[in-house]
Amino acid sequence: MVGMENLRVAIIGGGWAGISAAATLLRHASRPLQITLFEAGKQLGGRARNVQLDQYVLDNGQHILMGAYHDTLQLWQQLGVIEHEVVRRQPFCLQVVQGQQTVLKYQLPTSGPHWWRLLQAGLTVQGLSLPECWALMRAIGALLTQPISSHLTVAQWLAQTRQTPHLIRKLWEPLVLAALNTPLSTASMRVFAQVLRDSVFAGASASDLLLPTQPLSALLALPALSFLQQNGVSCCLQQRVKRVQAVEQGALVDGVFYHAVIVATAPQHTAALLTQPLPDWPQWGYHPIATVYCRYAEQVKLPCPMVGIAGGLGQWVFDRQSLYGENGMIAVVISGPGEHLSWSQDELIRHVTTEISACFAAPQPLWARVVVEKRATFACVAGREVPQSTPWPHIYLAGDYLIADYPATLESAVRSGKLAATQLLNQYQ
Ligand SMILES: Cc1cc2nc3c(=O)[nH]c(=O)nc-3n(C[C@H](O)[C@H](O)[C@H](O)COP(=O)(O)OP(=O)(O)OC[C@H]3O[C@@H](n4cnc5c(N)ncnc54)[C@H](O)[C@@H]3O)c2cc1C
Repeated sequence: MVGMENLRVAIIGGGWAGISAAATLLRHASRPLQITLFEAGKQLGGRARNVQLDQYVLDNGQHILMGAYHDTLQLWQQLGVIEHEVVRRQPFCLQVVQGQQTVLKYQLPTSGPHWWRLLQAGLTVQGLSLPECWALMRAIGALLTQPISSHLTVAQWLAQTRQTPHLIRKLWEPLVLAALNTPLSTASMRVFAQVLRDSVFAGASASDLLLPTQPLSALLALPALSFLQQNGVSCCLQQRVKRVQAVEQGALVDGVFYHAVIVATAPQHTAALLTQPLPDWPQWGYHPIATVYCRYAEQVKLPCPMVGIAGGLGQWVFDRQSLYGENGMIAVVISGPGEHLSWSQDELIRHVTTEISACFAAPQPLWARVVVEKRATFACVAGREVPQSTPWPHIYLAGDYLIADYPATLESAVRSGKLAATQLLNQYQ
């Protein structure tokens, strides 16, 4: 057993999982550690990072967080990130339009016991006929009370609970794509139910939406970099690790010995890094997210900062002027696969801006650009298998893909990093 004072730990990957692992080690180690964090990119943050598009600093994709992101909120506290300086917290609200008509508005009241708020929201939901309202209440009842098989897809569950095509288009489809980034026909109902139970149906603050008001790097990457460096973590940016090899009493990272290594990379990179194959490593599927940024001469008048479009190519539109103070800027999010991925940027922009004009009477934008993350998230399919650990006692895994009942989220990344660091500390304390 190695004494804590001698323990050299390498973390590979500076996304939210790797940052969380490093912060957890610092928080809970009873003796000093020598921690080195390797990040292939120029900045920390991984898939939640800034991109420079012409003169604008924007995000590689619009992110939202929820009050239920407990581990993320705890990490912010440790790093000194002040919640209200980086996100706008607001009660859960869904507003979906089709053309210029609002076809759904579901809003949790701000006060009262949670069961009462849920009931009131269900009864006062706008845009649904009485049978649709009843179908929605029936589905929520089933969600809250019935066990759900891990092999059930969302589409199968929607059929079982007799949701109408209208209700699916207006409510379930945009919601599932936003939460799981996976088409209804393959999306895991167990995971979707877990997300709803832990957030919308969990109680007052858990259901809150936390909408970023700062570029993504301000949410974690920048404060984390200064916190980690101040606490003695050696952060090696632009350093892509090539090989991790298990050896007796530790592991070699590009030939250099460490007592313990946390591999906090996305699954496609993890398997490639390890010199020996990981047994039972599942076949991973991935889904893209495309974000179309459009800048207009003036603010596009959206009914609220985040609006859904029923049956649209773009499923969610964000008003970046009201959230970030970026004049006339909106972000249109297209989750999941589709033929749009084979279109040129110009074609995609044309489609999206036509939709925006139809829904919000906006003119032609002054400027528009597209960001496509081809492997934005793992495919959160029914029956997804999750690897638990590596066969090597000194190599640990972290990453959003490791939390069984969760989709790819910032919270699952943070939670996985915390778990990996805790396992490591338990082994060496
Ligand atoms: C467009 C988009 C929108 C999203 N929207 C939301 C949202 O609204 N809400 C939400 O909660 N989540 C959202 N997500 C998901 C969220 O961003 C991810 O789940 C999370 O960032 C994953 O973090 P991670 O640390 O597990 O992995 P990553 O962020 O992928 O981090 C892995 C890091 O490892 C580095 N790396 C890889 N190989 C090496 C190597 N060999 N050596 C050194 N470093 C290496 C990579 O550069 C990367 O920085 C979205 C993702 C995208 C792409």
